[in-house]
Amino acid sequence: MVNLRKYALALASAAALSLPGIAVAEGMVGISMPTKTSARWIDDGNNMVKQFQDAGYQTDLQYADDDIPNQLAQIENMITKGVNVLVIAAIDGTTLSNALANAKAADIKVIAYDRLIRDTPDIDYYATFDNFKVGVEQATTLVDGLKERFPEVKPWNVELFGGSPDDNNAYFFYDGAMSVIQPLIDDGSIVIPSGQMGMDKVGTLRWDPATAQARMDNILSANYTDKQVHGVLSPYDGLSIGILSSLKGVGYGSGDLKMPIVSGQDAEIQSVKSIKSGEQYSTIFKDTRELAKVTVSMVDAMMKGEEPKVNDTESYDNGVKTVPSYLLEPVAVTGKNLEEALIGSGYYTEDQLK
Ligand code: BGC
Repeated sequence: MVNLRKYALALASAAALSLPGIAVAEGMVGISMPTKTSARWIDDGNNMVKQFQDAGYQTDLQYADDDIPNQLAQIENMITKGVNVLVIAAIDGTTLSNALANAKAADIKVIAYDRLIRDTPDIDYYATFDNFKVGVEQATTLVDGLKERFPEVKPWNVELFGGSPDDNNAYFFYDGAMSVIQPLIDDGSIVIPSGQMGMDKVGTLRWDPATAQARMDNILSANYTDKQVHGVLSPYDGLSIGILSSLKGVGYGSGDLKMPIVSGQDAEIQSVKSIKSGEQYSTIFKDTRELAKVTVSMVDAMMKGEEPKVNDTESYDNGVKTVPSYLLEPVAVTGKNLEEALIGSGYYTEDQLK
């Protein structure tokens, strides 16, 4: 039997939605994020939910605990639920082709969020930061720090860490960084005593801090019994924490053994505090509020049948096609501009960084 009361209410709310002058966007956005172990992804998720809801969309936000089958199941579930758009930060950017073919068949739009999704024709747009520039900035702060803390030393002993080999960004970070570091290796200013170079040797699966810490332990015991390490290229704050604790474990940062210059990324609170206290040297601030804004405006344009705004149609070939992208600017942060960049922008309060 038809529930008349419910039916009347449904009619009334449908009428309210279509009242002229009230622009209520309709649509459901599935947001698939990789993990909650890093604060940035929590911020990304929260920022998007808020901004999508403010724009009138419903959201379904899921975190996959860095587990690939889990992320696939969550995405399939969103497709079954009938979302209109998927926004995905992939754990492994090469494993989603089948799921996205299903999305395409159901006429669902797909945005790759922060990390490119590879090997599929079924993605529409990519919202991210200028990832090559992130690497350039990481290495530039590393070299600035080396000049500042070790002005008399030549050559500087440096070790290199890369991100997860299944994350397309990791290659952009590494290549960007090496565009600064390689010329200094070539002119004899920097040496890599472990000899470990190239993403196949320096990559850190799933961006795991413990893996980085163990690798740093091994590098130190195998190569540094008779010398000092001056700098470590680290692509992510979580790895920097592991690297710093390995360094501290053998006495760096106390007595005469100066702490090496260690870079990072994401301006996570613990690492910003570490920069304030003189341990980590730098990080890269990527304003997740801005990335959410770009993503919401892409979705909104697509839902209205308009062309989303992009500013790069060349850099991101996913193996099948070049994905139209919007790249935001990363900001390098050291002790010198930390307050202005992070508190001045309203990203953190002073209290959060105490
Ligand atoms: C992101 C970085 C982050 C890393 C680890 C990358 O894809 O671009 O901001 O540090 O993943 O979560």
